[in-house]
Amino acid sequence: METISLEHEINPWEAQAARFDFAAQKLNLDEGLWKLLRSPSREIIVHIPVSMDDGSVEVFTGYRVQHSIARGPCKGGIRYAPDVTLDEIRALASWMTWKCAVVNIPFGGAKGGVICDPKKMSIGELERMTRRYTAELIEFLGPEKDVPAPDVNTNEQVMAWIMDTYSMHMRQTVTSVVTGKPLALGGSRGRREATGRGIAVMCDEALRYLKLPRAGCRVIVQGFGNVGANAARLMMEKGYLIVGIAEQDGGLYNNNGIDVTLLQQHRERNGTILGFKGAEGADSTGLLQAECEILIPAATENVITSRNADRIKARIVCEGANGPTTAVADEILADKKIFIVPDILANAGGVTASYFEWVQDRQGYFWRESVVNERLEHILAESFDDVVRYAEAHAVNNRIAAYMLAIDRVACTIRQRGIYA
Ligand code: GLU
Repeated sequence: METISLEHEINPWEAQAARFDFAAQKLNLDEGLWKLLRSPSREIIVHIPVSMDDGSVEVFTGYRVQHSIARGPCKGGIRYAPDVTLDEIRALASWMTWKCAVVNIPFGGAKGGVICDPKKMSIGELERMTRRYTAELIEFLGPEKDVPAPDVNTNEQVMAWIMDTYSMHMRQTVTSVVTGKPLALGGSRGRREATGRGIAVMCDEALRYLKLPRAGCRVIVQGFGNVGANAARLMMEKGYLIVGIAEQDGGLYNNNGIDVTLLQQHRERNGTILGFKGAEGADSTGLLQAECEILIPAATENVITSRNADRIKARIVCEGANGPTTAVADEILADKKIFIVPDILANAGGVTASYFEWVQDRQGYFWRESVVNERLEHILAESFDDVVRYAEAHAVNNRIAAYMLAIDRVACTIRQRGIYA
């Protein structure tokens, strides 16, 4: 294995490109398509002035990267965080293209991000920043162009502001410009839980595939945001033992299983999972390496790296986050025969439910939650099957199989459409 520095290892764009190159080579992808799909098709950088509550003006830098529109409008979330970089957003945009293709929904990929610390901003400042960011991007967004959604530190309220700002510019209400909206504004039932529900489906499928029992199956979840908390709760309801939860400020462990519903209530009251009576305090770094059958990294990138991969004891790693495992760590996990459900498959429940929301908004006809969940579970179980069969047929691991399947689908569309001159 070639040794690369940690700085390169944890650069998400390089991590994406390493898997893309490997998969493209396995596919014998022709050089032109390789070059076309390796880079995003459009990168927009905006500097957003915002009037702050104290009367000063702050200027925030925002990005929207559109990787591909080959299979349909661009689709992908917007994140607010102090450490957002253009390389990160590029990688996340490409991952959205592959994710939408893996589950075979008619979207390309995009991602947005604003460098800011939402924890230090008032609700008014966040609203003004969101509206100005949307206005700066106005000609690039639209139900048939690019449809944002929530991601790290953005939520239904932020999506409502985006929808309203876009609608004000269009002089009509356009609900389908963004997904992950509040129910009353054209949101979809089941969207909020969808990524977590998808993780639960993936774990069920992985156990079935590996012929392992669900009874007594110990799960550790890293990250207790929308994805991690919903995955943990839905999996607890299915009978999994959620033995560990790791958060930024510390973790919890209980060998007999944590009551996730009570933990959610505790967090709502106290703003942290720490101090919860139904478990012992634990070190978050240690939890990643603790004994369990399933490990679910559900926060952000670069959680499993060359530094800790050889200490992971889980049998299955199911990636709720985007890019939690570096390309170097992939090889270490493969040597240890750990079964990976890769991010672009594992967390595709969110964008699949976003697709349903977009369809419902355009139809003006809204589905019952049971219909959303049933269609979601069907698409995800089928996609899991597609990926593991592809991996078997081509003798590659699940991640490379998912990339190959996705790249092949996108490449096939481009070949048929041709290159516009
Ligand atoms: N941010 C989510 C993701 O990374 C959802 C994207 C969407 O629904 O468009 O998949």
